[in-house]
Amino acid sequence: PQVYLNGEFTPLSQAKVSVLDRGFIFGDGIYEVVPVYGRKPFRMGHHLARLRRSLEAVRIANPHDQAGWEDLVGKLIATSDAPDQIVYLQVTRGVARRDHAFPADAVPTVFGMATPFAWPGAELREQGVRAVSMPDERWLHCEIKSTSLLGNVLARQFAVDRDAVETVMFRDGFLSEGSSSNVWVVKNGVLVAPERNHLILEGIRYGFIQEMAAARGIPLEMRKIAQAEVEAADELMLSSATKEILPIVSLDGKPVGAGRPGPVYAQLRQSYDEAIAALARR
Ligand code: PMP
Repeated sequence: PQVYLNGEFTPLSQAKVSVLDRGFIFGDGIYEVVPVYGRKPFRMGHHLARLRRSLEAVRIANPHDQAGWEDLVGKLIATSDAPDQIVYLQVTRGVARRDHAFPADAVPTVFGMATPFAWPGAELREQGVRAVSMPDERWLHCEIKSTSLLGNVLARQFAVDRDAVETVMFRDGFLSEGSSSNVWVVKNGVLVAPERNHLILEGIRYGFIQEMAAARGIPLEMRKIAQAEVEAADELMLSSATKEILPIVSLDGKPVGAGRPGPVYAQLRQSYDEAIAALARR
């Protein structure tokens, strides 16, 4: 497959970056993941706005304007025949002599690829997933979609090692998020999410689920959520570009609520599927 690197499309096997790239040396970069359904990017404007915010937060000059990014995403989608894809975009601070301080003259390294993708199937949607929990040991700028993902990588492996799909993290006893997803709690018909701040990445589905909940009249609270509330939830869900929304039916080996996907999940699931179907008609 063809990938994009610094202005050119080249075969993946020939796309090479210097070992002095600050993405490699320091994890000094940011990224974005845009889901593509039926060859159409879903909520691309939101993803590109977050990409812009991430670049600003780490003070890397934005290599493209909005139209330039949209054009690149379109060209990446065209590199694959698959209807459903994940478009990955990454910008690092570039190649420079190794020194923590920003280099004066480095040019950002811009990488993009489109990968064929299959969304979670009926089994995951209908039976839900197992999750485990651990303390959130990451840094305090989780709102930046940084390629420095060691904390997230260790948290995800914690789940894999325990035969679970996701690790739900708690900072000082309060819910933050999953290793690569946002986490939602339902209690007595109310949908509850952690507040949007520096302790979580604001998923593009974080905003989208708020919109869907409002449209369906599902009450939503955004506030600090104690671990005990998560453990006593009627329903738990996770959301991300690749997992869409999935019900968490067990946490640390104990059933969540009735131990099967609940009614609030079912409603949000339906809205999500409707939005994807509407995308195809546009
Ligand atoms: N939090 C983290 C740490 C993530 O890696 C992701 C996935 N990008 C999310 C939340 C969910 O974000 P989105 O809905 O944009 O995929």
